[in-house]
Amino acid sequence: MRARRVPTMAEITAVVATTSAPRTARDSVRPGRFNLEGRFFDPDGNPLTRLSDELTEEEALERIRSGARVAAEPCGCGGTSRGCAPIWSDDSSSNDGATLRLPRRSEMPTWIDLWSGDSGDVVFLHGDARLD
Ligand SMILES: [Zn+2]
Repeated sequence: MRARRVPTMAEITAVVATTSAPRTARDSVRPGRFNLEGRFFDPDGNPLTRLSDELTEEEALERIRSGARVAAEPCGCGGTSRGCAPIWSDDSSSNDGATLRLPRRSEMPTWIDLWSGDSGDVVFLHGDARLD
């Protein structure tokens, strides 16, 4: 059996340089997602603030018609669970005449909340809430 070779200082420095590059800090900006501190960002990286956590279909549609972006996370976790990647639909012109479906009875937590940031409002659909 061969003895383990001790890495040289140059080798150690090279490994540190490649692995420590961008650290995933808890408060890092994660465009379109939540970071580990629970802050939510739009796809441009602007932090968002929650204005309401219980929007009706009518209120949500009104916001969407006046230009709010739409995000959706069909798993119903709220967007904060590891691996949940909210789906963003940015083409608001295609939302003209859209209808919103918010089932009263659903297998999973289903609700709509409203967020706002530097680039405007975001309507966030959770669970079975759908924009058709
Ligand atoms: Zn989710």
